[in-house]
Amino acid sequence: MKGEHVKRKSTQLNGVEMSIETNRSNAVQDLLAGLASGAVDVVDLTQPLSESTPVMRVPEPFVNVSGLKMTEISNFDDRGPRWTWNHLELGEHVGTHLDAPRHWISGKGGEDVASVPLPRLVGPAVVIDRTAKVEENPDYLLTIDDVQEFIAEHGPLPDGGWLIYRTGWDKRVHDESLFLNNASGSARTPGIAPECAKWIAQETGILGIGVQTVGTDAGAGPTFDPPAPVHYYMLGAGKYGVTSLTNLEQVPATGAMIIVAPLRLVGGSGSPARVMALVPRT
Ligand code: MN
Repeated sequence: MKGEHVKRKSTQLNGVEMSIETNRSNAVQDLLAGLASGAVDVVDLTQPLSESTPVMRVPEPFVNVSGLKMTEISNFDDRGPRWTWNHLELGEHVGTHLDAPRHWISGKGGEDVASVPLPRLVGPAVVIDRTAKVEENPDYLLTIDDVQEFIAEHGPLPDGGWLIYRTGWDKRVHDESLFLNNASGSARTPGIAPECAKWIAQETGILGIGVQTVGTDAGAGPTFDPPAPVHYYMLGAGKYGVTSLTNLEQVPATGAMIIVAPLRLVGGSGSPARVMALVPRT
């Protein structure tokens, strides 16, 4: 109906440029009106970032990333009587964060996080929920059949969109041992089957995969062929990953828009990010 409205206007105005401008202006106004009325909700998909945020562990002899360390510069004292502020020390891949293509060997020399075009970080989101399967089996891997089943029910994957893999794993984030689930010596967390990761990266218009675990790959991912296939195929295709998402129960299977906002870190292989969804409320 909105499309027809815009079209009618362009006929009356008798100018293509005018109609495009009108259309754009209306789209933003419509969104603002939706936000003001509550017809559009903003849902925070970001985990709080603190010194107790659980951090990915790589096996010996590889070097691990450091979690957040916050050091006071001044706190309304002799060092700065009218202000409080802190220094931050943290790895790029800590908490809810974006993986840029150059993070992985398959994307070596590719986009750094500062070069990722913003339109690629704003787009339609589809949420595939396998919480029940993961409750039965923490090593559960999303398959091509799972995605095809979703498509049969909800329609095609959106070009330029993000596939969000909901597993309920965010409920464990308060306890690092539960979240990393590596008491046995190897991590047991859900992920995506290698052939499914390859298919999404190479055969679909999906630009990014979002997960609720500490990394985009399964805990057993390092043992797969290739190791860490989500990293390998997605970043190798110049695409992206986002980890440690929460509040996905507030996002519908289709119809939401995701915004991924990492730091514009020059040379960065990734960055902590604020991730949010615009969700229609009807
Ligand atoms: Mn990462």
